[in-house]
Amino acid sequence: MADTPAGKQRPKDTAPLKRPRLIIFDCDGVLVDSEPLSFRVLRDNVAAAGASIPMQDCYKLFLGKSLATTTEILSRDFGVDFSSADLESMRLQLFDLYRKELRPIPGIAELLRTLDLPVCVASSSQLERIRLSLEITGLLSAFDPHIYSASMVTNGKPAPDLFLHAARVMRTAPEDCLVIEDSPAGIEAAKRAGMSVVGFTGGGHAQTDSHRAGLEALEPAAVFGEIATLQRYI
Ligand SMILES: [Mg+2]
Repeated sequence: MADTPAGKQRPKDTAPLKRPRLIIFDCDGVLVDSEPLSFRVLRDNVAAAGASIPMQDCYKLFLGKSLATTTEILSRDFGVDFSSADLESMRLQLFDLYRKELRPIPGIAELLRTLDLPVCVASSSQLERIRLSLEITGLLSAFDPHIYSASMVTNGKPAPDLFLHAARVMRTAPEDCLVIEDSPAGIEAAKRAGMSVVGFTGGGHAQTDSHRAGLEALEPAAVFGEIATLQRYI
């Protein structure tokens, strides 16, 4: 999706942010284009368990949320209870698909090469999955060991815990952090952490007007679809 066209830009898209001292990247949908793959595996397994959830509804319900939250919603609202063996099977299906099809977000490697600020990753995924995603796409060395997972805190996004944990370990005050996020849950988490946040719509799952509108409704400092645009806000 193109960025907001010139002339249609609203003031909040051009407002200067305080220069951050740390950039916190979400992983799925910001560094790697993983959500279409992850949601394909989720939807297929939910269907095999007897429930049908259209892809767009899957995104609305589960995007940016941890496995714990996802399984809770599936059980409560759809009567789908995955056993630990089911979850392990899904994990293997997903890793197999990642190895075959996972790609980095276009332009992210170039951006990371030119950034002159500390960076870290804070993701709702399990640590093993984050590391595998970054390894497959050649991005691991840009972040390692500064990779933080929802499994390290009690409450996942939209709670602020994970971003606050990342800032604490990186010895940076929340107000000096800039978060880049593709999900409403992530934007809400960053705001609740007292951090600046921008919304990103360049992932394969995020290129719809309704997704963009969902991010804009939460009033991040900007919403854009080309990763290089981040340079404007740092
Ligand atoms: Mg994400």
